[in-house]
Amino acid sequence: MKQPKTFENYPRRIIISSNLVSIVIYLIGAFIIYQLGIIWLSIYLLFILGLEIRLMKRSCVNCYYYGKFCAFGKGKISSLFFKKGSSHKFIKDEITWKDILPDFLVSIIPLVVGIVLLILKFNLLILSLIVLLVILTSAGNGFVRGSLACKFCKQREIGCPAEQLFNKSKAKSK
Ligand code: SF4
Repeated sequence: MKQPKTFENYPRRIIISSNLVSIVIYLIGAFIIYQLGIIWLSIYLLFILGLEIRLMKRSCVNCYYYGKFCAFGKGKISSLFFKKGSSHKFIKDEITWKDILPDFLVSIIPLVVGIVLLILKFNLLILSLIVLLVILTSAGNGFVRGSLACKFCKQREIGCPAEQLFNKSKAKSK
C-alpha cells in the first residue's frame, strides 16, 4: 500500500513506536536516578510529568492535531484536559534551543548522575544503560522525528517552529 504524504490521524504502529522510545528513555533515566534514592526519583518523575503537561497545555492546544491522534497521541490527550488554542499562535511562536533545554535535561541529568556513579564505583549495568540512553536520545529520537513523526505531519506543512529549528541545525552541521 502506498504511504500517504501526511496523516490526518497517525496509525497505531507509529504512535506506539514513537512513545516507546520516550518511555524507555524515561525508564532508564528513572532507574539511574533511583540509585540516589526515592526522593530524587520522585523529583525526576515529577519533572517529567511537568514537561508533559507543559507540552500539552502550551503546544498541543495550538497544533493541527488537537483532538486527533498525532504521532504521539498527545493531540487527543490534550483535548481531554485543555481548551483548544489558536493555530496561528503555533506558527508564530519562535522556539529556541533554550526553550527545549528542559526536554534535554530528562536525558542529561541521568547521564551526568550515571557517569558520576560509574566514577565512584564501576557497574556494568549502569554503563550499559548510559550507552542505551545516549543512543535512544540521539539516534532514537532522530529516527522518530525524521522517519515517523515530522515526516508525515500536517502541522509541518502548515508551519512548525520546532521542526524548523531542528532542520536549521541539521543544515548547519552539513
Ligand atoms: S512537525 Fe514534528 S515537531 Fe512539529 S508538530 Fe509535527 S511532529 Fe511535532
